Amino acid sequence: MAAGKGAAGALTDSGPGAGDYTGDAHAFAERLAALATIEDLGAFAGGCHRCGLRAGCRGVVFGEGATHARLCLIGEGPGATEDEQGRPFVGRAGELLDKILDAAGFARGEVYISNVVLCRPPGNRTPEDPEIAACRPYLRRRLELIDPSIVVLLGATPLRALVDAKAKITQERGHWYRLDGRWVLPTYHPAYLLRNPAAKKDAWEDFQKVRELHRRLHGTGAAD
Ligand code: URA
Repeated sequence: MAAGKGAAGALTDSGPGAGDYTGDAHAFAERLAALATIEDLGAFAGGCHRCGLRAGCRGVVFGEGATHARLCLIGEGPGATEDEQGRPFVGRAGELLDKILDAAGFARGEVYISNVVLCRPPGNRTPEDPEIAACRPYLRRRLELIDPSIVVLLGATPLRALVDAKAKITQERGHWYRLDGRWVLPTYHPAYLLRNPAAKKDAWEDFQKVRELHRRLHGTGAAD
Protein backbone atom coordinates (compact mmCIF):
# COMPACT_ATOMS: atom_id res chain seq x y z
CA MET A 1 0.00 0.00 0.00
CA ALA A 2 1.36 3.41 -0.92
CA ALA A 3 0.93 5.55 2.16
CA GLY A 4 0.89 9.31 1.78
CA LYS A 5 -0.30 12.38 3.51
CA GLY A 6 -2.95 14.05 1.44
CA ALA A 7 -4.28 17.35 2.71
CA ALA A 8 -6.98 18.23 0.24
CA GLY A 9 -7.70 21.93 0.32
CA ALA A 10 -10.89 23.56 -0.88
CA LEU A 11 -11.47 21.91 -4.23
CA THR A 12 -12.64 23.89 -7.19
CA ASP A 13 -15.28 23.22 -9.81
CA SER A 14 -12.92 23.13 -12.77
CA GLY A 15 -13.35 20.34 -15.33
CA PRO A 16 -16.01 17.66 -15.66
CA GLY A 17 -16.89 16.22 -12.30
CA ALA A 18 -19.61 14.73 -10.21
CA GLY A 19 -22.09 17.37 -11.31
CA ASP A 20 -22.41 15.47 -14.58
CA TYR A 21 -23.92 12.44 -12.87
CA THR A 22 -26.71 13.90 -10.81
CA GLY A 23 -29.50 11.85 -12.40
CA ASP A 24 -28.02 8.40 -12.86
CA ALA A 25 -27.09 6.52 -9.69
CA HIS A 26 -25.68 3.52 -11.58
CA ALA A 27 -23.45 5.61 -13.85
CA PHE A 28 -22.36 7.58 -10.82
CA ALA A 29 -21.42 4.44 -8.87
CA GLU A 30 -19.48 3.14 -11.89
CA ARG A 31 -17.68 6.45 -12.28
CA LEU A 32 -16.61 6.44 -8.64
CA ALA A 33 -15.49 2.81 -8.85
CA ALA A 34 -13.21 3.80 -11.75
CA LEU A 35 -11.43 6.41 -9.62
CA ALA A 36 -8.44 4.52 -8.32
CA THR A 37 -6.90 6.97 -5.85
CA ILE A 38 -8.16 9.18 -3.08
CA GLU A 39 -6.69 12.18 -4.92
CA ASP A 40 -8.70 11.33 -8.06
CA LEU A 41 -11.82 10.92 -5.95
CA GLY A 42 -11.21 14.27 -4.25
CA ALA A 43 -10.67 16.05 -7.56
CA PHE A 44 -13.84 14.51 -8.95
CA ALA A 45 -15.86 15.44 -5.84
CA GLY A 46 -14.69 19.03 -6.27
CA GLY A 47 -17.15 19.36 -9.14
CA CYS A 48 -20.09 17.92 -7.22
CA HIS A 49 -23.55 19.50 -7.29
CA ARG A 50 -25.53 16.39 -6.44
CA CYS A 51 -27.38 18.23 -3.69
CA GLY A 52 -28.14 21.83 -2.84
CA LEU A 53 -25.39 22.22 -0.24
CA ARG A 54 -22.66 23.09 -2.75
CA ALA A 55 -24.49 26.24 -3.82
CA GLY A 56 -24.39 27.62 -0.28
CA CYS A 57 -20.77 26.98 0.69
CA ARG A 58 -17.30 27.99 -0.46
CA GLY A 59 -16.16 24.58 -1.56
CA VAL A 60 -15.95 20.86 -1.03
CA VAL A 61 -14.08 19.84 2.12
CA PHE A 62 -12.99 16.41 1.03
CA GLY A 63 -10.90 15.16 3.95
CA GLU A 64 -7.26 14.86 4.92
CA GLY A 65 -4.72 12.55 6.40
CA ALA A 66 -2.77 9.44 5.49
CA THR A 67 -4.30 8.06 2.34
CA HIS A 68 -3.94 4.49 3.61
CA ALA A 69 -4.56 5.21 7.28
CA ARG A 70 -5.55 2.28 9.44
CA LEU A 71 -7.85 4.55 11.41
CA CYS A 72 -10.47 6.79 9.82
CA LEU A 73 -12.64 9.30 11.68
CA ILE A 74 -15.89 10.49 10.20
CA GLY A 75 -17.75 13.56 11.38
CA GLU A 76 -20.99 15.13 10.27
CA GLY A 77 -20.11 17.91 7.85
CA PRO A 78 -17.87 20.98 7.58
CA GLY A 79 -18.61 23.97 9.77
CA ALA A 80 -17.79 27.62 9.05
CA THR A 81 -14.06 27.35 9.83
CA GLU A 82 -13.74 24.14 7.83
CA ASP A 83 -15.54 25.74 4.89
CA GLU A 84 -13.19 28.74 5.05
CA GLN A 85 -10.03 26.65 5.26
CA GLY A 86 -11.10 23.70 3.10
CA ARG A 87 -10.02 21.26 5.82
CA PRO A 88 -12.07 19.05 8.16
CA PHE A 89 -12.16 19.57 11.93
CA VAL A 90 -10.07 22.73 12.20
CA GLY A 91 -12.46 24.77 14.39
CA ARG A 92 -13.10 24.36 18.12
CA ALA A 93 -14.42 20.82 17.75
CA GLY A 94 -11.30 20.02 15.72
CA GLU A 95 -9.04 21.34 18.45
CA LEU A 96 -10.71 19.00 20.90
CA LEU A 97 -10.48 16.12 18.45
CA ASP A 98 -6.74 16.77 18.06
CA LYS A 99 -6.34 16.61 21.85
CA ILE A 100 -8.29 13.38 22.07
CA LEU A 101 -6.28 11.81 19.27
CA ASP A 102 -3.04 12.92 20.86
CA ALA A 103 -4.05 11.53 24.26
CA ALA A 104 -4.97 8.24 22.58
CA GLY A 105 -1.57 8.06 20.91
CA PHE A 106 -2.53 8.97 17.35
CA ALA A 107 -0.94 11.81 15.38
CA ARG A 108 -3.48 13.68 13.27
CA GLY A 109 -1.43 13.15 10.12
CA GLU A 110 -1.44 9.38 10.61
CA VAL A 111 -5.21 9.01 10.55
CA TYR A 112 -7.72 10.08 7.93
CA ILE A 113 -10.40 12.60 8.89
CA SER A 114 -13.47 13.42 6.84
CA ASN A 115 -17.21 13.93 7.06
CA VAL A 116 -20.47 12.39 5.92
CA VAL A 117 -21.29 15.43 3.80
CA LEU A 118 -18.51 17.26 2.01
CA CYS A 119 -20.20 20.68 1.88
CA ARG A 120 -21.14 22.90 4.79
CA PRO A 121 -24.87 22.83 5.61
CA PRO A 122 -26.21 26.38 6.03
CA GLY A 123 -25.96 27.62 9.61
CA ASN A 124 -24.28 24.32 10.54
CA ARG A 125 -27.62 22.53 10.59
CA THR A 126 -27.67 18.74 10.58
CA PRO A 127 -27.46 17.39 7.01
CA GLU A 128 -30.79 16.19 5.66
CA ASP A 129 -31.41 12.64 4.42
CA PRO A 130 -31.25 13.47 0.67
CA GLU A 131 -27.96 15.33 1.24
CA ILE A 132 -26.55 12.37 3.14
CA ALA A 133 -27.76 10.02 0.40
CA ALA A 134 -26.14 12.18 -2.28
CA CYS A 135 -22.80 12.15 -0.47
CA ARG A 136 -22.83 8.53 0.73
CA PRO A 137 -21.24 7.08 -2.44
CA TYR A 138 -18.21 9.32 -1.85
CA LEU A 139 -18.01 8.14 1.75
CA ARG A 140 -18.17 4.50 0.75
CA ARG A 141 -15.59 4.91 -2.02
CA ARG A 142 -13.35 6.89 0.33
CA LEU A 143 -13.39 4.02 2.78
CA GLU A 144 -12.74 1.50 0.00
CA LEU A 145 -9.72 3.46 -1.23
CA ILE A 146 -8.23 4.24 2.16
CA ASP A 147 -9.17 0.76 3.41
CA PRO A 148 -8.84 1.40 7.17
CA SER A 149 -9.28 -1.46 9.61
CA ILE A 150 -10.94 0.85 12.17
CA VAL A 151 -13.51 3.59 11.60
CA VAL A 152 -14.65 5.95 14.36
CA LEU A 153 -18.04 7.56 13.81
CA LEU A 154 -18.23 10.95 15.50
CA GLY A 155 -21.84 11.47 16.54
CA ALA A 156 -25.27 10.48 15.31
CA THR A 157 -24.97 11.59 11.69
CA PRO A 158 -22.22 9.16 10.61
CA LEU A 159 -23.81 6.45 12.76
CA ARG A 160 -27.10 6.90 10.91
CA ALA A 161 -25.46 7.34 7.52
CA LEU A 162 -23.41 4.14 7.72
CA VAL A 163 -24.94 1.79 10.29
CA ASP A 164 -28.62 2.35 11.01
CA ALA A 165 -30.80 5.32 10.08
CA LYS A 166 -32.69 5.09 13.38
CA ALA A 167 -29.78 4.46 15.73
CA LYS A 168 -29.24 6.65 18.78
CA ILE A 169 -25.69 7.68 19.56
CA THR A 170 -26.37 7.63 23.31
CA GLN A 171 -27.24 3.92 23.04
CA GLU A 172 -24.73 2.80 20.43
CA ARG A 173 -21.60 4.67 21.47
CA GLY A 174 -18.82 2.43 22.64
CA HIS A 175 -20.20 -0.65 20.83
CA TRP A 176 -18.18 -2.17 18.01
CA TYR A 177 -19.81 -2.91 14.68
CA ARG A 178 -18.42 -4.84 11.72
CA LEU A 179 -18.96 -3.15 8.37
CA ASP A 180 -17.43 -4.41 5.12
CA GLY A 181 -14.72 -6.15 7.12
CA ARG A 182 -13.87 -3.05 9.19
CA TRP A 183 -14.24 -2.42 12.90
CA VAL A 184 -16.57 0.52 13.42
CA LEU A 185 -17.02 2.37 16.71
CA PRO A 186 -19.55 5.16 17.23
CA THR A 187 -18.69 7.75 19.85
CA TYR A 188 -19.74 11.28 20.74
CA HIS A 189 -19.04 14.16 18.40
CA PRO A 190 -16.41 16.58 19.81
CA ALA A 191 -18.87 19.48 19.47
CA TYR A 192 -21.23 17.57 21.78
CA LEU A 193 -18.36 17.08 24.21
CA LEU A 194 -17.73 20.83 24.22
CA ARG A 195 -21.35 21.39 25.22
CA ASN A 196 -21.46 18.43 27.61
CA PRO A 197 -18.04 18.06 29.27
CA ALA A 198 -19.36 15.30 31.55
CA ALA A 199 -19.56 13.03 28.48
CA LYS A 200 -15.81 13.31 27.87
CA LYS A 201 -15.26 10.40 30.21
CA ASP A 202 -17.33 8.12 27.95
CA ALA A 203 -15.57 9.39 24.83
CA TRP A 204 -12.24 8.77 26.46
CA GLU A 205 -13.25 5.18 27.24
CA ASP A 206 -14.24 4.77 23.59
CA PHE A 207 -10.91 6.07 22.32
CA GLN A 208 -9.07 3.77 24.69
CA LYS A 209 -10.94 0.89 23.04
CA VAL A 210 -9.80 2.21 19.67
CA ARG A 211 -6.21 2.43 20.82
CA GLU A 212 -6.38 -1.06 22.30
CA LEU A 213 -7.80 -2.64 19.14
CA HIS A 214 -5.34 -0.72 16.99
CA ARG A 215 -2.46 -2.07 19.04
CA ARG A 216 -3.81 -5.60 18.80
CA LEU A 217 -4.25 -5.36 15.03
CA HIS A 218 -1.23 -3.31 14.04
CA GLY A 219 1.18 -2.72 16.90
CA THR A 220 1.83 0.93 17.66
CA GLY A 221 1.91 3.04 14.45
CA ALA A 222 -1.35 4.48 13.12
CA ALA A 223 -0.43 4.10 9.43
CA ASP A 224 1.86 1.98 7.25
N1 URA B 1 -17.95 19.15 12.78
C1 URA B 1 -17.95 18.12 11.90
O1 URA B 1 -18.77 17.23 11.96
N2 URA B 1 -17.02 18.12 10.96
C2 URA B 1 -16.09 19.06 10.85
O2 URA B 1 -15.25 18.96 9.94
C3 URA B 1 -16.10 20.10 11.78
C4 URA B 1 -17.04 20.13 12.74
